[in-house]
Formats: sequence, structure tokens, C-alpha cells
Amino acid sequence: MATLTLDNLSKHFGTVRAVDGISFEAKDGEFICILGPSGCGKSTALRMIAGFEEPTGGDIRIDGESMTHRPPNRRPTAMVFQKYTLWPHMTVFDNIAFGLKLRGLSRNEIKETVLNGMDLVSLAGYESRFPSQLSGGQQQRIALARALVLEPKILLLDEPFSSLDALLRVRLREELRRIQRRLGITTIFVTHDQEEALSLADRIAVMNIGKIEQIDEPSTIYAYPKTLFAADFIGAMNLIQATVINGEADVLGINLSVEDEMPEGEKVQIGIRPEDFAIVPAGAATSATALWTAQVDQIMDMGHYRKVLVQVSTAKAEPLKVYANKTIQLSEGDTLQIAPLRYLVYSEGQPPIEIQQHIQTELLTLN
Ligand code: ATP
Repeated sequence: MATLTLDNLSKHFGTVRAVDGISFEAKDGEFICILGPSGCGKSTALRMIAGFEEPTGGDIRIDGESMTHRPPNRRPTAMVFQKYTLWPHMTVFDNIAFGLKLRGLSRNEIKETVLNGMDLVSLAGYESRFPSQLSGGQQQRIALARALVLEPKILLLDEPFSSLDALLRVRLREELRRIQRRLGITTIFVTHDQEEALSLADRIAVMNIGKIEQIDEPSTIYAYPKTLFAADFIGAMNLIQATVINGEADVLGINLSVEDEMPEGEKVQIGIRPEDFAIVPAGAATSATALWTAQVDQIMDMGHYRKVLVQVSTAKAEPLKVYANKTIQLSEGDTLQIAPLRYLVYSEGQPPIEIQQHIQTELLTLN
């Protein structure tokens, strides 16, 4: 049981600020995902926590004690890497036992701990196999067991499932979460996969160009992404440029309330999630005062819902992404009306403003 504190942590490689002053505290037993695109610095941050990379500045503390200048083997951390890093010439048993031997445990203690570890990752009975006789998923489970038997205070995982196929990735994700909850181990998990982060994390730290843009619970990040980067990176979001005129934003030819005293001419971005549109059949009466007339460009059937691209008639802009449920009649080429039920207004240097509209419509078929 442990807390991890990163205090203004940085790593520069020459002029590259791979990690640029990040701070957060992982609470006891918390599962934090560091989520960001390739090159944003997430692996470097994790490697500094493990001790494989010397920070340029800042401090790493575990339970209040500075780890910043300790070598990796003197930190209470264990790391699982993206590529299965099992030793090919050793059996599964010996792979897991390796770190325990270094710690000077007795033969009996080692045996008991290794077998417990294998049980934990549901691979009891595989101890005399060699890594080449295991599937990718099984190898990654062994790598996890090898880390867990060391009873680290902090478990670190660097994209551990990214080389596995999609189904297996989901299964292992669920298994990791179950084990992590059971052990109550404070965990930092690095990924570029938003779905993985949304489904695993207690909190997600969204990272971009060396900085953390937002750290919040998944539902908060999704509902209220604080920056345009977070809005664009997590989930699908329609982002539309607009200008404030007479206290309202002119968005693709309709006026949307910005509910704030924004200066005339201010450039803003309006963010609308695809599931946040009311779809109003052409000609149906509605209380919505601001709605677009649009043409259905493309319909993608996703099984339980449909992704629809619609082109707003008055605009040359990109088509809007709208999610529609299956009960609504739609065909490519149809004309319909859409109105945002909820949107976020982003203006330079300000937290976004959330606006909701309540719309009543005859024959309204909502998502
Ligand atoms: P990926 O998901 O592709 O692994 P990442 O978010 O983990 O990316 P890092 O590997 O942490 O990113 O790299 C962050 C930045 O630091 C990149 O621009 C990278 O090129 C640079 N970088 C990382 N390691 C070194 C190094 N040893 N020397 C020089 N630059 C480095």
C-alpha cells in the first residue's frame, strides 16, 4: 500500500523536453493511466519512476520518501514492458523466481511465492514450460506475475497489451483490473489507447508534448475535457470554429448561446459529442430555435447504433459526426434537422463552458 508523488518532474534530451514539469499524486491503491499520443513523453515519465532514466528536474516520492536518486533495484517498484521480456532460456518458473532469488529467499519460500503468482494470473500448471511454448497473452501474464511476486509498492506497466490482438487485449485488461483491485496495489499504466484508459483507470492523466493537460476520472474527462487536445484525443468530438457576434456564437450559420460575456469577434471552438444531437425529421415541429438542416452523407452500421456523417447545407465545413440509434429511419441522401442538446464552448486560455438545451419536438426520435 503506497502513494506515489510526482513533483514537477522533467526530463530533457538536449532541446527535447520529453517530460516538462509533471505533477500528480497517485493515492493508495489507485489505478492511474497516463494516456497520450506517441512521443508525448509517457514512457519517459514511467521510466523515471522506475529509475531507468535520471530526471532533469523535480522529485519522485513514494510514501513521502524521495526516490529520485535511487537506483531501480532499490526502489519499491516493478515494471511490465510492452514486449514480453521473459528470458527465453529459462522456464516460466525460473523467470518468475529470478527476482526472488536475488532477494535471497529460501527455496521453499520461492516455490510458494512463484506458485501463488502463477495462480494469480491463472497460469497454474505452466511452470516448466519455456516462453516460446506460450502464447503472447500467456507470456504477458507471466511478465505480470514476475512483477507482482516482488510485492512492489508501485506497479508500473508500459503498454503491456499493445502487441496482442484486440480480443485478448480486452480479456487481459479485465484480468489486470481484477488482480489490481484484489491486491490493492497502486498502479501506473501507460497507454496511447483511449478505450484502454477509459475502461481501466480510476483517473486518467492526459499527456501532450511533455505536459499533463488534465487528470480526472474517466467519466469527467469524457464529459468535460478541459482542453481542445483532450476533447479531440478522447472519444469522438465535433470541433467547430465559430465567432462571437452579439453575445452568441455563429456556428455554421446558426446562433448558439455561449452564456458568458464573451467579447464581440472572439474566436471560439464549439465541441459537440456525436451522441449529443437531437435528430429531427425534416418538417417536424420543434421547440429548437437553433438547428441545422443537413444531408446524410454516409451511414456506418456499428451493430447497436449507427455512425452518421451529415453535411450541414449552408457550410463548406467537414461533415458532422452524429450517432443515431437504430429506431430512427435514415438513408444516405436524406435531409434532416439536427440540434445540439449539449455542447462545450472553448475559448483561448479559459476552461470550457458547458451548455445544455432542452428541446421538445413532435415526432422527435432521439439518440
Ligand atoms: P511512444 O508511445 O511512441 O513510446 P511516448 O509517449 O512513450 O511515445 P517517449 O518515448 O517518452 O514518448 O518519448 C518522448 C520524447 O522524448 C520523444 O520525442 C522521443 O523522441 C524523445 N526521447 C525519448 N528517449 C530519448 C533518448 N534516449 N534520447 C533522445 N530523445 C529521446
